[in-house]
Amino acid sequence: MISLNKSQRLENVSYDIRGPLLQTAQKMESQGHHIIKMNIGNPAPYNFDTPEEMLQDLIANLQQAQGYCDAKGLFAARKAVMHYTQQSGIAQVSTDDIYMGNGVSELIQISMQALLNEGDEVLIPAPDYPLWSAMVNLCGGKAVYYRCDPEQQWAPDLIQMSSLINNRTKAVLIINPNNPTGAVYSAKYVGAIAELCEQHQLVLLSDEIYDKILFDQAIHHPAAREVHSTLCITYGGLSKNYRAAGLRSGWMVLSGYKEGTQGFIEGLDMLSSMRLCANVPAQLTVQTALGGYQSVDDLVSPKGRLYKQRAFLSDALNEIDGITCERPQGALYVFPKLDRERYPHLDDHSFADQLLKQEKVLIVPGRSFHCESDRYFRLTILPQQHVMDEAVSRIKRFLKRIDS
Ligand code: PLP
Repeated sequence: MISLNKSQRLENVSYDIRGPLLQTAQKMESQGHHIIKMNIGNPAPYNFDTPEEMLQDLIANLQQAQGYCDAKGLFAARKAVMHYTQQSGIAQVSTDDIYMGNGVSELIQISMQALLNEGDEVLIPAPDYPLWSAMVNLCGGKAVYYRCDPEQQWAPDLIQMSSLINNRTKAVLIINPNNPTGAVYSAKYVGAIAELCEQHQLVLLSDEIYDKILFDQAIHHPAAREVHSTLCITYGGLSKNYRAAGLRSGWMVLSGYKEGTQGFIEGLDMLSSMRLCANVPAQLTVQTALGGYQSVDDLVSPKGRLYKQRAFLSDALNEIDGITCERPQGALYVFPKLDRERYPHLDDHSFADQLLKQEKVLIVPGRSFHCESDRYFRLTILPQQHVMDEAVSRIKRFLKRIDS
């Protein structure tokens, strides 16, 4: 009889956002239960549609999208990303420095495969978007976590970050705006991290997939603007800003100092060629997406749906005794905290598990994002307000039962 175990390479790899809790939820659904899903930042199911102009482009150009394209991506798409990069104040990027991928996810994988040797270390924020840790580990590297401080609006602890650098350190990752914390880093922090990378000749990896989802006065500072004497890789895409997660389209931009990085670039080129090319129909929408009217600006403005929903959910959670929740500055999530003194026996995992089973609300425990503390949990701000209202009522009811 055949016996198959998962590869040993997957031993230290986890991606709990779609892990056991989601499987329990799916099982419950198959038994006829309706679950309120507050777990994933997927805009389409909540009626956040891809801009119509992009969909029209996709349909009109389908005839031209039947074949493979250049391994690095369609020229027009890369040119559009190049212009976007220039408008963001980033110097000396050509279309050759841009790689299109099947979402940022694939580009994280390709770049970590090309970069890491066994035991190489990458400094990763805690909490993080866990695909980063997973890919670093899968590629033989080691995810080493630097703390982001909840008392300082989740800003990176620069002193600790600096103390973690050693001769195995290859790169530093920032996620800005941040998933899951909603932090948007000030120019001071971005500049200091860039300086640290330059000083130690580390690659600065900057995941900026939420760079247009900013609330109130938050300003996004692209890391690449600050990096001159080492390599910077910026990741962006259509999934969030353009509500087109299903199209699977993202890009990666190499900037800064590229001399001495030819070997790595050869690796990127080879890995891009090996997957033949990224989804062509989606690439045909990139030029339209990045140019002209940006509907996301309306969604995040005070009259916009994202703005209102983010305010509603953070404030409603914050009003619950035993939960504190700050309004996020960017991205698509809130990251509230459960009071330890009030609920000493309820950690993030038991809370998420019992809430799902008893109240049919699906959230993600903070430790799925490698959060040091066991007190946090993440919810997306995407569901319609009445859905969030119902989810909050169920959370209240659940905690009341614990109180009694
Ligand atoms: N990076 C971050 C910070 C994310 O939150 C996500 C998805 O949630 C991704 C990357 C993956 O994006 P894509 O859909 O482009 O693969």
